[in-house]
Amino acid sequence: MATAATQVTHYTSYKARPFTREQRDKTTILFGGLTWKHERLVQGVFNNLHYNAKPLPNIARADLDAGKELIDTGACCPTIFTTGSLVNFLKNEVAVNGKQKTLDDYVFLTAGACGPCRFGQYHESYEMALDGMGLKDFRLFLLAQDQLDQAPEKPGGLEINMHLSLGIVWAILVGDILTDMEYLTRPYEVNPGQTDKVLQESADYLFEVFQKRPLRDNKYGMLAWHFLSGYFADALRVVRKKFDAIEVDRLQVKPKVKITGEFWLQTHEGDGNYNIKRWLESEGSEVMPPPVAVWLGYLLHTPLWRLSAKPTIDRKIRMKMAMIRGLEKLYVGTYNRFRKALAYVPHELPDQEELKQLASPFFHHELRGGEGHMLIGKALHAHLHKHANMTCELSPYSCMPNTMSQGAMANVLGRHPDLLYAPIEIKGDAEVHALSRCQMILTEAKKRSQSEFVEAMAKTGLTLEKIRQIEEKNPKVKKATYRIPHYGYASTAANYALHLAGMRAN
Ligand code: SF4
Repeated sequence: MATAATQVTHYTSYKARPFTREQRDKTTILFGGLTWKHERLVQGVFNNLHYNAKPLPNIARADLDAGKELIDTGACCPTIFTTGSLVNFLKNEVAVNGKQKTLDDYVFLTAGACGPCRFGQYHESYEMALDGMGLKDFRLFLLAQDQLDQAPEKPGGLEINMHLSLGIVWAILVGDILTDMEYLTRPYEVNPGQTDKVLQESADYLFEVFQKRPLRDNKYGMLAWHFLSGYFADALRVVRKKFDAIEVDRLQVKPKVKITGEFWLQTHEGDGNYNIKRWLESEGSEVMPPPVAVWLGYLLHTPLWRLSAKPTIDRKIRMKMAMIRGLEKLYVGTYNRFRKALAYVPHELPDQEELKQLASPFFHHELRGGEGHMLIGKALHAHLHKHANMTCELSPYSCMPNTMSQGAMANVLGRHPDLLYAPIEIKGDAEVHALSRCQMILTEAKKRSQSEFVEAMAKTGLTLEKIRQIEEKNPKVKKATYRIPHYGYASTAANYALHLAGMRAN
């Protein structure tokens, strides 16, 4: 018989208080972790399904301090920032409305996964923080990123079903397309501020589009509708008209900087990564933002590698593989339909097999966690296809998967010494150090883009004045929605000059 001294209190994992159907109208679902554009569209999806939902305020420096106070000090910086963001929001609510109202009025939905890195334990950090601030009864829910339908048998206040998941995935794809348009346009806009204005209008319009999404009762009907309907592509054609009004000057020579790194850090736009994308633009670069769609494509594709290691005589395995390949075709096809609605100006998604092959001499694709081999694959893809002059990899302080990929990159650079690579460690409180490190490589990238332009101009055999004259005769090329083909240069100005030279007979 156990005595008081020997009695052990076993660990029990967090179990959220129930969130019931009846509470739905009076409860707001909090979420975050993406860009403000993606989050606005996801909010439209929630509203479409009659939920009240609100993204957490964009990450600020104060969130790092709040997170550090309450969770494990060795946690990676995205965990600290995102936990701190929830903490600060709740602290403010408790101060204004009181503890009980805060507990009753909100629930938090976060993505989760099973994996070797801290992403698989995010919720533990949230729980630790909630406990520390006396809000243990606050309700947290996990959206497993690899399951579209997690609906329980008895529906509660929050049903993570196909209708919600498909809406979120489509909001992410549309958000990516919009973000790509933003970063392709803003560096070259003739009237400062116009891109941001159009972007805001477009995000508001698309929010309405998601809010009014037609619903089907049947989950398979819903799946088929998402793949087959022209509803979202039509909406993006409306967005194209808005971007049509923006005049750009693509003869400004700017280095193209591809952003890679840990999922949250590379996606984020704010203090969490020192606003590095805006900073790069202010330093005279064009940024290639990382689409979230590449990550979803990775999740969709990776089961194929595991299945192909099994005996192919098994009919079930062959069928599963065929189904995944079919889904993948539909997924990439959908992304391309969205690109088409914007005249194919947004970038293509890289092929997952190619990323794996490029990375394979340096990093095994079964080493999962974080972005895995993709960091190597993406840097090489951008370099070898001449899509970017340099790669800036955002690595969180205390992130195990990113540290591994940086180690492997040393080998990559040994074999590809001309690859301009800026690994930036982000702690959240060492901005000057991080940005000055990036600036060193950026200086080289600027030189590269200048020499590309000089070389391209020499190939055209024309003067800059003549190129400007061709531009004046073809005003359509000055629209943000005019697609410039790739002529083998990373920087936009070099490709543009060659393109205009090809139009001289018109
Ligand atoms: S990938 Fe790195 S930074 Fe991201 S959650 Fe995992 S450990 Fe943290």
